[in-house]
Amino acid sequence: MSEKDEKIKSLVDMGFSEDEANMAITRCGVDVDLWELVDSLGAPRITEDSHSRNISDHQSKKKRNRYGGRAQGNQPSLDGSHDEPMPLPNPMVGFNLPGYLQPSVTRILPKQDTGPPFFYYENVAQAPKGVWATISRFLYDIQPEFVDSKHLCATARKRGYIHNLPIENRSPLLPVPPKTIFEAFPHYKKWWPSWDLRTQLNCLRTNIASAKLTERIGRALASSDSPPARSVQKYVMNECRKGNLVWIGKNKVAPLEPEEMEYLLGFPKDHTRGLGITERYKSLGNTFQVDTVAYHLSVLKVMFPNGVNVLSLFTGIGGGEVALHRLGIHMKAVVSVEIGKANKRIFRGWWDQTQTGTLIEIDDVKSLTDDRIVSFVSRFGGFDLVIGGSPCNNLAGCNRYNRDGLEGEQSALFYHYFRILNAVKSAMARM
Ligand code: SAH
Repeated sequence: MSEKDEKIKSLVDMGFSEDEANMAITRCGVDVDLWELVDSLGAPRITEDSHSRNISDHQSKKKRNRYGGRAQGNQPSLDGSHDEPMPLPNPMVGFNLPGYLQPSVTRILPKQDTGPPFFYYENVAQAPKGVWATISRFLYDIQPEFVDSKHLCATARKRGYIHNLPIENRSPLLPVPPKTIFEAFPHYKKWWPSWDLRTQLNCLRTNIASAKLTERIGRALASSDSPPARSVQKYVMNECRKGNLVWIGKNKVAPLEPEEMEYLLGFPKDHTRGLGITERYKSLGNTFQVDTVAYHLSVLKVMFPNGVNVLSLFTGIGGGEVALHRLGIHMKAVVSVEIGKANKRIFRGWWDQTQTGTLIEIDDVKSLTDDRIVSFVSRFGGFDLVIGGSPCNNLAGCNRYNRDGLEGEQSALFYHYFRILNAVKSAMARM
């Protein structure tokens, strides 16, 4: 397959039409990174009217079949490959956004799917074909809520969330975070060239631009006119967009500092401090955008005035817990399952400094057996929230070599989320 065909295929797999894929390649050239092409197109086309959507899937037999309805009591099929790609909404604003006069989305979940336990599952929005349809089928056919965090803060992060939380009467975290680069970091105005038209940053990644690259950009600019020729501008802008580079001097760009990423993602300053720099970028690249998740979780505050018991799967650096804390929701107990030593250290450090509840740490979702779940359920009187985003290593677009979908070694950990959630539900049903 030629490089062009390969890129067209990847874009089509993400839900774009072949015409759109061709158009992006004509516009940006075949050599650019796949994500440049995706950015140039925005989110994949929506095939239904997002303004009059009614997402009570369970009332719509047609839709249920389309996403692979299942007979009562059957295990959903593992194979999502025959599903149509789930359409990603454009704009990617979820069911509603703070302060927007939004499409009035209503959803009615069947009694057996409503909480407690409430659950909240997250993963990358732009996953290979069939992945979200499969995840949705496992999670009781609930329609994902796709949100690009750029609608809530200054940086993009396109994620899908499947949850059974009410979607009315949400409230945003205060203070509302800055929505543009200059609101977040006014000092960068000084060196920002007029031809860099970015107002927001792209998704913060787990790896950052090398010093070699930023030097190369500096040299290209130093040997150019002012303003530089369009071809130089195009090269520089491509790299700046891809690496979220900012202007720190004349002709001088640099990646964001970890504390700037912490700020954009809604974490306290120095949350990840103490880790090596590579680890910090990695953990921050994988974490929740706190304002986004907090907006969805905000409905728990009135429901649980005395606090919540949380089962936190794939805790990472604790984006979910930071969101609950910033909402003023007390965590009576958190059972946290996280395998990364560095992440555990960060999370435990934050917990000890800010929380008074009980923290139980488990290393691996695979070792959280049904028996252990039963004993936690009886010890804490059940869980109010089961939260987690399983690894996206085999789903995310930047993984070109090993993008084997939900059955990939890391991404298949989703099935543990499903298994554990079901075990909690059955243990709680027997209480
Ligand atoms: N939501 C988290 C990040 C999730 S990224 C946050 O807010 O920071 C996925 C996480 O799953 C990573 O931190 C990774 O270390 C962890 N992980 C990977 N395999 C795991 C396993 N087998 N058991 C538990 N955690 C695992």
